[in-house]
Amino acid sequence: PLPDLPELGALPRKSTFAVQVGNVLVGGGRPVVVQSMTNTDTTDVKGTADQIAQLWRAGSEMVRITVNTVEAAQAVPQIAERLAMMNVDVPIIGDFHYNGHQLLTAVPECAQALAKYRINPGNVGFGKKKDTQFATLIEKAIEYGKPVRIGANWGSLDQALAQVLMDENAASANPKDAGAVLREALIRSALDSAYKAVEIGLPKDRIILSAKVSGVQELIAVYRELATRSDFALHLGLTEAGIGSKGIVASSAALAVLLQEGIGDTIRISLTPEPGQSRTAEVIVAQELLQTMGLRAFTPMVTACPGCGRTTSTFFQELAQKVQQHVRDKMPEWRITHPGAENLTLAVMGCVVNGPGESRHADIGISLPGTGEAPTAPVFENGEKTVTLRGEAIADEFVELIDRYVERRWSP
Ligand code: SF4
Repeated sequence: PLPDLPELGALPRKSTFAVQVGNVLVGGGRPVVVQSMTNTDTTDVKGTADQIAQLWRAGSEMVRITVNTVEAAQAVPQIAERLAMMNVDVPIIGDFHYNGHQLLTAVPECAQALAKYRINPGNVGFGKKKDTQFATLIEKAIEYGKPVRIGANWGSLDQALAQVLMDENAASANPKDAGAVLREALIRSALDSAYKAVEIGLPKDRIILSAKVSGVQELIAVYRELATRSDFALHLGLTEAGIGSKGIVASSAALAVLLQEGIGDTIRISLTPEPGQSRTAEVIVAQELLQTMGLRAFTPMVTACPGCGRTTSTFFQELAQKVQQHVRDKMPEWRITHPGAENLTLAVMGCVVNGPGESRHADIGISLPGTGEAPTAPVFENGEKTVTLRGEAIADEFVELIDRYVERRWSP
């Protein structure tokens, strides 16, 4: 007899307050939301609006922008206007540090145009002014009916709070290591600030929390604690994740563990773009992380074998690339004309060893001829062989078959 086999899938999502951010609901068991951030100068209205549109088209469901000066704050309503003219309907989040209380007071149009304010409790202000400046930010959120993200960050930890905890720890009978104390300072900074905001009058369903660090194990530990100690919606992200594959791997490793445990309501993959790399790479990575974990579907995913000595050309890798690009390009249209097509599964395989088997598991798959095999490429749909392609036009014909499959299966 078969042993008791475990169920597939992530643990149930942790129950959190649902927060309305513009037209997007975050938390409360809703699908995990993808967000990103621009790297333009916010005073460049056209450049910023264009990049927001680009991120939104790539699938970012919320976009954050820097609001650091009066000029940047004045640009925000113009950016919102420009986006409306472009039919880009995405919540814009203002990222404030040091002077957010002044900017939201001085430029009411900015306070109104933003869908959410991001406040870093370590960068709200210093000394005695800190509490009043934080209170002003929260009062502005209440006045304009906006949610806030209270986003503590390892790189801007509240030093006064960290010192208090360090002193307490040093005086205790069983002192913890310094790293644990600093993690606790980060968690407390986020939670204490959230409860202060609630005391001032901001409802709990208008608060999202984050506490970002740059180490994978630290991030997992911090968020497990945040999720245990509160019901606030949580924004996940590894800060300063790094360049290229390092940033992708580190972010995916940390976020996947938390998402698997049902922790996290919105995610951002903070990648440092490589020269020439588009800002949208971080959106695609976030989507692929959620999709490969089976948490959401955004774009059909191609299963492709890595290739080996049984394939003497790079044709099948090129075909896999072409197919992935094709379905990614088609998705904005399919989302409207063929809803459900994002669930399509595809396989492009290099030879007969695993090709037919893997292709049968996909909705539509192709097994290309490896070295020494007959120059034929059987295509499988819904587990059955339907046609065999031959010759120079295999790639174009396979792409056509994909379009026809989507047409048949997901036409409304
Ligand atoms: Fe190699 Fe064939 Fe396996 Fe692809 S399917 S990795 S070509 S043996």
